[in-house]
Amino acid sequence: MKILPFSIPTPFPVGPINIYLIREDPLTLVDTGPKTPEAREALRRQLREVGLIISDIKRVVLTHTHEDHCGLARLIQEESGAKVYVHEWEHDQISQARHNRVDRALIGRTGVPEPALAAMDLQYEEIRRFADPVDDVEAYGDAREFDFDGGSLRVVHTPGHTPGSSCLFREANRTLLTGDTILKSIKPNPLLSADPRDRSRRFPSLARYLASLLRIRQLAPTLLQTAHGGEIDDYEEHFQRLTRLIEERRRRIVDLVPDEGINAWEMSRLVFPKIPDNQRFLAVSETIANLDLAVSEGRLRIETNTLVDAYFTA
Ligand SMILES: [Zn+2]
Repeated sequence: MKILPFSIPTPFPVGPINIYLIREDPLTLVDTGPKTPEAREALRRQLREVGLIISDIKRVVLTHTHEDHCGLARLIQEESGAKVYVHEWEHDQISQARHNRVDRALIGRTGVPEPALAAMDLQYEEIRRFADPVDDVEAYGDAREFDFDGGSLRVVHTPGHTPGSSCLFREANRTLLTGDTILKSIKPNPLLSADPRDRSRRFPSLARYLASLLRIRQLAPTLLQTAHGGEIDDYEEHFQRLTRLIEERRRRIVDLVPDEGINAWEMSRLVFPKIPDNQRFLAVSETIANLDLAVSEGRLRIETNTLVDAYFTA
């Protein structure tokens, strides 16, 4: 099976995204790049270099619904009639009626002050412009096989970065297309999201992410093709470093919890004092994910009886 990486520019701090062309029948693209003229041209050019055009694409499989991954899906679908697939837990994130990234009810419980919340709202409204909504989308579930003439790719649901984040596994040569679940040199952010099974609750993103890392380990992949940065060929080393980093940060956050308690917003200011305002949503997501996991481990205690959740030492 021929898997060709394409590098597509994005307007985001993360830099370019790697999307993957599965050059088998049916011709399939894994992720698309954002909706910008530069990304569209980069996609057309790299397809042209291998003798293809957008209308040759038959399938688009999305690893999750962030704009840099799904932004061009509708354009591709319109030009080619390609089917678009996304994990069932993010199916409603890509349609016209999609939910805002910043879920007001959930983030309100972190204690974020109104001006900062308004700024986040505005920022994510801007970011949404980098993806067209897609209404004709098919949902996939864990273990779904995408069949090709020359083999198949299996969905491995790896929630954490987002609830529906998924990898695609080529069993024959133990190659894993990771989306944002595994990145070459940065730790993916466990974003504050609603739980798809009960949207009034926070998704336990960090706990699920750690489980996803273990699940990938069980697959024993020999090559991981990531969405940002290069390939990884030693997953065990990557896994050890990543889990150590995650554990160190969680310990630091637990140690910072004062006797009188603290909310997630205040904690995020303590843990990430210097990061720019446009990354505050990422900071508070990271913080609350750690606090919630520490609660589930019995290392902290949470009080949820007021408008803002407060964390205390156990
Ligand atoms: Zn992402």
